Amino acid sequence: MQKDFLGSKSRSNTFAYIVGDNIYLNITNRCTNDCTFCLRNNGDAAYGSNPLWLEHEPTADEVLIQVKDIFFDNCQSFVFCGYGEPTCRFQTLIKTAKQLKNKYPNIPIRLNTNGQSELINSIEYTSQLFGLIDSVSISMNSSNEDDYDELCRPVFGKKAFSAMIEFGKRCVGNIPTVQFSVVEETLSEENIAKCREITDKIGAKLRIRKFISENDKNPE
Ligand code: SF4
Repeated sequence: MQKDFLGSKSRSNTFAYIVGDNIYLNITNRCTNDCTFCLRNNGDAAYGSNPLWLEHEPTADEVLIQVKDIFFDNCQSFVFCGYGEPTCRFQTLIKTAKQLKNKYPNIPIRLNTNGQSELINSIEYTSQLFGLIDSVSISMNSSNEDDYDELCRPVFGKKAFSAMIEFGKRCVGNIPTVQFSVVEETLSEENIAKCREITDKIGAKLRIRKFISENDKNPE
């Protein structure tokens, strides 16, 4: 069901890599979306990393080994992001986050997600994130299911949009920072304003980000 991009791409076993002051974690290449603007459509890497197409999906222990290898003193956060949707590997995500919290208790953990975990897994899984994940960034991408479907081409069809919004609602109040994001170049001002109405109502932040190309060195 989930799109697997493994094919003739350059691959490596890059499970952890540095982006700015953060360590990003790459635990899968699977995703339930096929976004028109996805960085993966035109590249093999992100922010100057090694190829992020994986030779195999890592265990939590394999991620921790690479984190220890590249860890630096002023590291600001761990970010589950990479070249796929982290909640496609929910139990590895949870196990890795627990090990990171155990070894680096003062460093916050962020989850970047398409918000479809409750379709990929189940609603009950969401609560496993609480008390473990400090910040969640949900790719909102549009204010309505039709535009979302066109931009993100989810395998779940039009129910993906409302599932993503409901996931965000459940996170608010249970995860310290909940942020939705949209890509500025893909939406009209009117659509962005409607996104803001939705996130204000939910009590979450809205981040309007720029389109990311393979040559960008920092996500901000
Ligand atoms: S949700 Fe993220 S990883 Fe998945 S296709 Fe969209 S931009 Fe790419």
